[in-house]
Amino acid sequence: MSIPASTSSPSRRCETEVIYIHIPFCKSRCIYCDFYSTTLGQEFMNSYVEALKREMLLRRQYIKGSRVHTIYIGGGTPSLLPANLLHELFDAIQRLWTLDENAEVTIEANPDDVTAEWLKCLEGTPVNRISMGAQTFCDRLLSFIGRRHNARQTIDAVKACKESGIENISLDLIYGLPGQTLEDWQRDVEQALSLDIKHLSAYALSFEEGTKLDRMLQQGLVEETEEELSRKMYNYLMKATSEANFLHYEISNFALPGFHSRHNSSYWEGKPYLGLGAGAHSYDGQRSRRANLPDIKAYIAAKDDVPNETELLTDEALYNEFIMTRLRTRKGIPLNELSEEDRLYCLSFAEPHLKHKLLSIQNEHLCLTKEGIFTSNDIISDLMK
Ligand code: SF4
Repeated sequence: MSIPASTSSPSRRCETEVIYIHIPFCKSRCIYCDFYSTTLGQEFMNSYVEALKREMLLRRQYIKGSRVHTIYIGGGTPSLLPANLLHELFDAIQRLWTLDENAEVTIEANPDDVTAEWLKCLEGTPVNRISMGAQTFCDRLLSFIGRRHNARQTIDAVKACKESGIENISLDLIYGLPGQTLEDWQRDVEQALSLDIKHLSAYALSFEEGTKLDRMLQQGLVEETEEELSRKMYNYLMKATSEANFLHYEISNFALPGFHSRHNSSYWEGKPYLGLGAGAHSYDGQRSRRANLPDIKAYIAAKDDVPNETELLTDEALYNEFIMTRLRTRKGIPLNELSEEDRLYCLSFAEPHLKHKLLSIQNEHLCLTKEGIFTSNDIISDLMK
């Protein structure tokens, strides 16, 4: 499949307008999470931001025409960064590059951090979008999965964002949590939509290797949600979001018109992006993908380039990625962007799914139907090489 990783920096650089910055600090670990973050390193925040500024300088040429279209500060928990460091970060960005007038600038936040005081810290930064990990509005489940906040804090946080003038708010929810009933989930979706948010991401719980939740599954302490219930939950999600005029623009993402995540859409459209920070990934839009190693101490200590692994994608890997990312979106796979050989390959494996109305072709795009979404993983793996 892919050409083996080298441990040196890639010789080619991406030319992008999209920046991701990873802030790998969390106060505590949620039991389902496999993102790179540490609970031990908060004393490293100053030196980490210094290292981020060094990496920005190192990669200043990666930004096309020095213009930035979207920035996403993710984590970890970026809302843990003290105000002075957040400002230093944005000052450094704005010294090196120019933000488009209508740039989308998102910061991820935990609801318990989103207070009027924290929102005041955002003044003077270009942040205009907040993505909050609500996960559920059931306090029993929040405590079970190790979240630090309760439902009331999420509701208050959304209200506080609006009072501070930030309207572009996205919430994350998780369905299929152990012990979560259909009624619990319906209440979660209703509650989220009642908060007048602009964007909703809803993910099925997955049991990622190495997480506490996965160990609990192996030990028989929790069970996976039955497929039938999961389907009902997803069906309800689609119905409720559609009634609230949200567009279902990616399998797990729903937005009011004009409020889709432009940053995440760049990933799904295969555009290049620059990832900064320990554990961040970059893509040059062609064949090269670089992953900064998830090691905060090594990242801070790096003198020249930061430790990373670079993968050169083969034709097969590129095709697979194209299928996987595009089919997840409402637009689907643009068949005319495939080579003749790949198009024929893709259509031959799509045929049975087209016959069963799990896939459809609209304007030369191969798309999942509503029914096909439920078996999207199987369909995607059928179409891949
Ligand atoms: S879900 Fe978010 S807050 Fe929880 S451990 Fe993962 S990165 Fe940290």
